[in-house]
Amino acid sequence: MLTSSEMLTRNIDVLKSTVNRYGLYGLAISLVTILSATIIVSYQMTGEVTLDSLILAQKSNFALRILDLLPFMFAFWGQYTTSVMAYHASAIIMEETDDLREETTAWKRKSLHHTTHDTLTELPNRSMFYELLREALHVASRDNKKLVIVYINLVGFREINETYGHNSGDLILKELTKRLQNLTHENDIVARLGGDKFILVLKDGFADKLITNEVQQLQKTLEQPYVFDRTSIDVNVNSGISRYPDDGELSDELMQRAELAMISAASTNKAFAIYSPNLNQENPRRVSLIGDLRRAIENDQLELYYQPKIDLLRNEITSVEALVRWNHPEHGRVSPGEFMPLAERGRLIKPLTRWVSATALRESADWHKRGLNIGMSINISARDLGDSELPDVFAALIAKYNVKPDWITLEITESSIMDDPKHALTILNKLGELNFRLSIDDFGTGYSSLAYLSKLPVQEIKIDQSFVLEMNKNKSDELIVKATIDLGHNLGLKVIAEGVENEEVWHRLKQMNCDVLQGYFFSPPLEKNEFFKWLQESRWKPKTADKAQQ
Ligand code: C2E
Ligand code: CA
Ligand code: CA
Repeated sequence: MLTSSEMLTRNIDVLKSTVNRYGLYGLAISLVTILSATIIVSYQMTGEVTLDSLILAQKSNFALRILDLLPFMFAFWGQYTTSVMAYHASAIIMEETDDLREETTAWKRKSLHHTTHDTLTELPNRSMFYELLREALHVASRDNKKLVIVYINLVGFREINETYGHNSGDLILKELTKRLQNLTHENDIVARLGGDKFILVLKDGFADKLITNEVQQLQKTLEQPYVFDRTSIDVNVNSGISRYPDDGELSDELMQRAELAMISAASTNKAFAIYSPNLNQENPRRVSLIGDLRRAIENDQLELYYQPKIDLLRNEITSVEALVRWNHPEHGRVSPGEFMPLAERGRLIKPLTRWVSATALRESADWHKRGLNIGMSINISARDLGDSELPDVFAALIAKYNVKPDWITLEITESSIMDDPKHALTILNKLGELNFRLSIDDFGTGYSSLAYLSKLPVQEIKIDQSFVLEMNKNKSDELIVKATIDLGHNLGLKVIAEGVENEEVWHRLKQMNCDVLQGYFFSPPLEKNEFFKWLQESRWKPKTADKAQQ
């Protein structure tokens, strides 16, 4: 392929040779014209054509002299035109070369920008950031200045992406970048470490109290709802702070300490924390478990187990309860009893509930497609009831997975409803309007009043297992269970008993007209494939189960 300047040079060459050729033709024609005109004039003057008569004709005839100028004119025209062309051509080529040079430099600059900046937010990326930080540390040490490093982590960003789509996720990151830039001074560093992690380096070193004010302001600004297309999305951030030179002098050390402070903030349910040496000693298993749990949620390392619920009248399984499991790579199985409180403290409940709900709804849709028409219960934590977005999240999930909301029961513990009954009622009403079934979990432990209970839009109560486990041995437990079943029925609710571990309890509950039973006697919570196996072999398998399997 020829470049445009090569093409131009070639065209000019063609033109030049044409001009030259016409110059030569002109020259030849004019010579012939001069010769024939001289012959004619000489013959007219002397009656003959000799060398002398020709010279005489040339000397005496003025018109012939003028004609003699013709060849010079043609030669001059040819020369002049080709040199003007050559001049223009070289000017154009020079201009082209300049353009080309500019283009190459711009392209080089752009590709350098790509390797040092994050394409979405245009912020310096991790490697560029470390360079900037080292430079800033060098300047600070030379000028005896302080630096403040703020490590920022968005909580549950992956779930936001999954629920609202990656476009919304991108918009949040861009908007958050803008907010960060507005909050900082021009010479501070704002960078994106990748994913949902950002970093600030504030170059006006200040006293701790000022840092606290500054970070509080930052936290508040970043947590303002993100509004796109009339959807308002709440984002929580955790941040950790380390200071140069108080907490370290090296970039790696300062970064590690800022991250540790961030994890510690998350684990103690604070928005942010400033590094202090005793953070290193603070219950390392807990701090590291919270970090691990955050990663486990992000990397899909949790699993749902399913425990059958048996309908007493139909004598078959009619639904399952989804229970989350965490198989830690080092510590092995960590029970929900240990990690759910950690998730509460680490502000991880929101992403955890979103992961559980998305997984459970996806499975439920799949099971129904395969002809396994049973319900699915999902546990909702106390903290979820404070999350005003929860109904929108569920609305988005039922649309995404094409699930009928009445396949899904949301279990909410009685005590979490009683934490903030007014707000709980608002959220429960919204979830009820979406047609989800609602169930009060651990009923009997939360001191709800009858008057309040009758106001709740629930369909079911689940008697706490502490009353059921030993009701065959403990008379007062048995009385409580009996009274609860009657109370539920009087309010028009279904009553479930959980913690059924033996046949005797099963039969007692049947006599008491309990509706649904759950417990180790029927099956422990099972991994999905185990559960499918149970379905095939169990005496409580659904009547439609044969065709449902595989
Ligand atoms: P829960 O909602 O009351 O769940 C019932 C617990 O009782 C489960 O423990 C289950 O394995 C256990 N269980 C079932 N049948 C029997 C029985 O016959 N005897 C005895 N002794 N126990 C039985 P698990 O799976 O360890 O869960 C403990 C708690 O952790 C749950 O109590 C729930 O509060 C919480 N949890 C589990 N998964 C989730 C989840 O996905 N989201 C939320 N928010 N909480 C969850
Ligand atoms: Ca439950
Ligand atoms: Ca329970």
